[in-house]
Amino acid sequence: MIECAGKRILIDCGLYQGNRELDEENAEPFGFEPSDIDYVLLTHAHLDHCGRLPLLAKRGFKGEIITTAASRDLARLVLLDAARLNEEETSYRNRKARARGADRLETKPLYEVTDALDALSRFGRTADYQKPIELARGIQCTFFDAGHILGSASIRLDLAEAGRSVTVLFSGDIGNSGRALMRDPSPPSGNDGVVMECTYGDRLHRPMHLSIEELYDAVTSTFERGGNVIIPTFALERAQEILAVLKEGIARGRLSRSMQVFLDSPMAISATEIFKRHPECFASETRALFGAGQDPFSFPGLHFIRETEDSKALNRISGGAVIMAGSGMCTGGRVRHHLRNNLSRDAASIVFVGFAAKGTLARLIIDGAKSVTIFGEQVPVRARIHTINGFSAHADRDELLAWHRRAKPARTFLVHGEEEVMTAFASSLAGATVHQPVIGQVFNL
Ligand code: ZN
Repeated sequence: MIECAGKRILIDCGLYQGNRELDEENAEPFGFEPSDIDYVLLTHAHLDHCGRLPLLAKRGFKGEIITTAASRDLARLVLLDAARLNEEETSYRNRKARARGADRLETKPLYEVTDALDALSRFGRTADYQKPIELARGIQCTFFDAGHILGSASIRLDLAEAGRSVTVLFSGDIGNSGRALMRDPSPPSGNDGVVMECTYGDRLHRPMHLSIEELYDAVTSTFERGGNVIIPTFALERAQEILAVLKEGIARGRLSRSMQVFLDSPMAISATEIFKRHPECFASETRALFGAGQDPFSFPGLHFIRETEDSKALNRISGGAVIMAGSGMCTGGRVRHHLRNNLSRDAASIVFVGFAAKGTLARLIIDGAKSVTIFGEQVPVRARIHTINGFSAHADRDELLAWHRRAKPARTFLVHGEEEVMTAFASSLAGATVHQPVIGQVFNL
C-alpha cells in the first residue's frame, strides 16, 4: 500500500495458495481499513495477485480498481470461479461436519459469488500500456508490459507531495523475453524505488527452444508406442502457450497433421476465448497471425471439451491423443481421471510443464513414486514421466537481473519469493541498495 497526498493506493490484493494454514491466513485482517483504500492497481489476473479483491469488497472497499482490459476480462473469469469453489468447498465441509454430528458453528466461505460481483463492479478505468492515468492531483500511474501472462503489467507510480516527487515501479510478475506469445518485459528506467518479485531469483531456466523440442520428442515417441500424452496444465497462459507450440510443431512438420489434441478444461477454454479477444497484448509474430485472419490457438485436430460426459468419453481412447486438463499440480480437476486411466500404461506419457509444489500429486509422480493413490485406488506408475521446465511464465535469475538493470532504481524492495531465494537474489544485486521487507513494515520514500 502506498500513501501519498492523502490517498491510499493498493497494488494487487492476492490470495495465499497452497494449504489449509494459508487458507486461514487469507481470512486474517488486512492490516489496513479496506474502506480507506481509494484505488487498487492490478498487475495481472493470477489468483495470488487478485484473489482477495472479493474479500476487500466484502469488508468495505468502495474505491476504483484499475487494470488492463485483458486483465479485467481474465479477473472476471478467475474471481467468479474462485468464489464458486469457495462456496462449494464450504458447503461440502459443513455437510461432512454435520454428518459427524459436530455441533460447532458452521464454517463460512472466505467470500461468495455476490462478493466477487461486488469487486467486479469496482473495476473502473482500463489502462493502456505506457499511457499515464491521473489518479489524483500529483498522483499518476502508468502500466508497462511485464511479459508474464495476457494483460500483465509492471506499474509505475509518479507521486508528488509537499513539493517533492518520487517514482516507484512495481514489477508485478516478470515474464521471460523472446517468447512467441507475449511481448518482452519493458520496464521504464530511472526509478527512485522498485518493488520487485524474485520467484526464481536463484536459478536458471532451460532455454525455451530446447523445451519445445523436448515436448515434440515426447509426443512423437509416445505415439510410436501407441499411448496417450497427458499434459496437466494451468488454465491461464500455460494451456494457450502449449496449444501455440503444438500448432507450430504441425506447421514445421515436427508433429503429425492428423494429431488429435483435447483441451479438457472449461476454464482453459474460456481463458482461450479471452486470449482471442485481446490481440493487442501479443508479440508481433502472433499479432500478425491474428491480422491474417488466423488464430494461434487452433488447428484441425484440436477439440475443446466442456461437458463432463464428453470428458468421460476420452477414457475410451487408449492411444494417439494428447489430453490437456487441469489442475496443473493434479490436486483436483479432470486430469486426475486421465491419470487414473493412463498412469499404469507403459505406452503412455505424462508431461509436466509447470511448477509442482511439495505434497501435490504432480510432485509425487515427478519425484518418482512407484504408485499413487487416486480416488482411493492404488495406481501403479508405468507411464513415462517427462518434466519440461522451460515453459515457466516467470523470469529466471539472469532475466530478473536484466530487468533490474533496465529499471535502474535507487532503492530495491524484494517481494514475492521464498526467503532463501530472496537472500540469494539480493546478494547477486551487488552495489544496489536492497531491502527485504517483512509483512507490515513501513518505509518512507
Ligand atoms: Zn503471476
